[in-house]
Amino acid sequence: MERFVPFSQDVTGAGTAGAPCPAGAVPASSAAPAAASAAPVPAQAPALASNGLLSQLSGQPRVREFLARAVSSGRVGQAYLFLGAPGSGKLDAAWAFAQAVLCDEGGCGVCDTCRRVAHRTHPDVHCLAPESATGYLVSQIRDLLDDVALAPVRARGKVYLIESCDLLHDSAANALLKTLEEPPEHVVFVLLGTSADVILPTIVSRCQQVPFRVVPPEEAARAVMRRTGVDEASCRMAVSVAGSPERAVSFLKSAERREARRSVVRALDALPLADEADILTFAREITEAVKAPLAEVKAAQQAELEQSADYLSRGAVKQLEDRNKRELTARERSGIMEILAAARSLLRDVLMELQDPAYAPVNADVAEVVGRLAERVSVTGAACALDAVAACEQRVRKNVTPQLALEVMLFDLRKALCR
Ligand SMILES: [Zn+2]
Repeated sequence: MERFVPFSQDVTGAGTAGAPCPAGAVPASSAAPAAASAAPVPAQAPALASNGLLSQLSGQPRVREFLARAVSSGRVGQAYLFLGAPGSGKLDAAWAFAQAVLCDEGGCGVCDTCRRVAHRTHPDVHCLAPESATGYLVSQIRDLLDDVALAPVRARGKVYLIESCDLLHDSAANALLKTLEEPPEHVVFVLLGTSADVILPTIVSRCQQVPFRVVPPEEAARAVMRRTGVDEASCRMAVSVAGSPERAVSFLKSAERREARRSVVRALDALPLADEADILTFAREITEAVKAPLAEVKAAQQAELEQSADYLSRGAVKQLEDRNKRELTARERSGIMEILAAARSLLRDVLMELQDPAYAPVNADVAEVVGRLAERVSVTGAACALDAVAACEQRVRKNVTPQLALEVMLFDLRKALCR
């Protein structure tokens, strides 16, 4: 196999050993993040291709600079731990880093590799989320380790993104530890978590920590405005629905995701007068709207399979199919989570309007829906409605079928929204 240059240099040196090297370095004002290691590091931040995903991490300039420098200096480590609050853009940063690491130009944004990573359809970037309510399954980690042992499909290396690594418990964590310590040369792991305190120390000590700062919603909305040219009110709404600025940008660009949000708003607006049949219809319509953007992903997966079928073994094809299936489930789940965030955002507006008539709703485009709901519901009812959304999120996390979870939520919401 061709030597995978970005990973072939100094992966065992001081830079990667347990100490939170970039953690100290990233927040530091202008100190070079890799100051602890011996190799020369450019004093200036490397120039970033404007089309690359890394250049778009405007909310996390220090992280962006640190990751770009690691790539441009050829000193990419093999295990990173991205730490930050939800909405700080860790997952976006992880994908951006994967793009920069796999692209021959350090993340040009335009080559085949970059485009595939940006569409999250690159077969050598694997994103894992826990498959059970309590955490990662040992079988999930075993599958991952089997995959780590395989050569990359298209790129020179492979990147594994592991979300919610605080949910890596005992046996699942143990299965991963050895590989995390000495991954094959062509492999990079990026683990994501909220705080090192809730992650197993044995995992933390094997990774370079990269802390993310909390991005205030107004700042996130301004960043989205700069990138999309869309009005501020829509950007505020998009951040509140999508979470991070990067996801808000892609939300605003996706007619299908915006339509999914509208389907939730329509359902909430009509709920107080809805009968049982209406509620079941709403749940079905919302589920279908969430699934609409998946058609493109399915097509890309199918094309990938057809291209790879000639040179992959039957076992590897099966593994690819399983991964594709898991990816679709994960995407559907994140789509459902997004429309639940949309519901929460709208209901929070209702609650705020009840408490302060001068309040300017985040969902300004549907202010009349907020007003109508606020006229019908009590403060207690609005609070119960928010609880119903949280309960639905829990059910989806516990692998309840999304449509069923939505039906239960809509029935609970109707009860809460009628005084
Ligand atoms: Zn590229």
